[in-house]
Amino acid sequence: MLIFKTFTALQEYLQPIKAAGQTVGFVPTMGALHKGHLSLIEASKSSNTYTVCSIFVNPTQFNDPNDLEKYPRNVQRDIVLLEQAQLDVLFLPTVEEVYPTNLAPLPHFQFGKLPNILEGAHRPGHFDGVVQVMHRFLNQIRPTQVFMGKKDYQQQLIVTHLIAQMGIATQLIPGVIIRDSDGLAMSSRNERLDAHQRQLAPTIHLVLKDAQAQVNQTPVEALRIKSTQKLEAAGFQVEYFEIVDPEYMNRLNGGFIREAVICTASWLGDIRLIDNLEFQAVAVEG
Ligand code: AMP
Repeated sequence: MLIFKTFTALQEYLQPIKAAGQTVGFVPTMGALHKGHLSLIEASKSSNTYTVCSIFVNPTQFNDPNDLEKYPRNVQRDIVLLEQAQLDVLFLPTVEEVYPTNLAPLPHFQFGKLPNILEGAHRPGHFDGVVQVMHRFLNQIRPTQVFMGKKDYQQQLIVTHLIAQMGIATQLIPGVIIRDSDGLAMSSRNERLDAHQRQLAPTIHLVLKDAQAQVNQTPVEALRIKSTQKLEAAGFQVEYFEIVDPEYMNRLNGGFIREAVICTASWLGDIRLIDNLEFQAVAVEG
């Protein structure tokens, strides 16, 4: 595995690969890698000639300095995992490399309400930081495909819109959520859960599954309230629990629901966990 720390070095390496018509898959991460990240690398490797994974804890997407400080970092362990996964290239830039003082201002992009609802409402400025870092990475790397997890459902929607507005040829491939055997969605933040919290954490998935089974059986608002109460009774502090449409993530209000995303952000102590489940009404053959 090769490790590059500057865009220039990475571009020099990728240039002949692209010129030869070979494809480049890109997996952006913030490190503290787990099977969720590795599944994206696998997906990239299976459909691209070369795969680049980045590890960069992007300061501009952290609205809470405490969260940035406590974010788990373990690059040496990550390198071992990436070697085992037979990754081609690890990109490890510094903050100065990603955000040099002479960086041109970010063009204006339009995402409608998307960056200001759900995650955006509770983490002001978060998606500005995500857009900033993804614009920089995509513009410099120009991968054939970029792989992003549906664990961060809203993020991959926003980046899909960003790519369309940048007018680049990159295709975003969303990856399914990888879970532990008890249902807890894998997350770098799970490393911070104590034993008791770790035991409670899979309740999020159970409550999402119960809600998924009741879409179109219980009115959405009642379902939202009931699910919130279940999580709170189990010891979570619920930031939001919503049943939204998969394209714009607007709250669904009623009527027959064909497709939805049921999503939540809930706290266990000082750890914020997010998760979601997609719902699709089963088509009945006429
Ligand atoms: P992060 O390092 O948390 O920024 O995540 C990097 C990428 O991995 C993002 O596209 C995430 O959505 C994705 N990811 C994180 N956790 C999971 C998971 N449990 N399953 C699938 N993808 C994930």
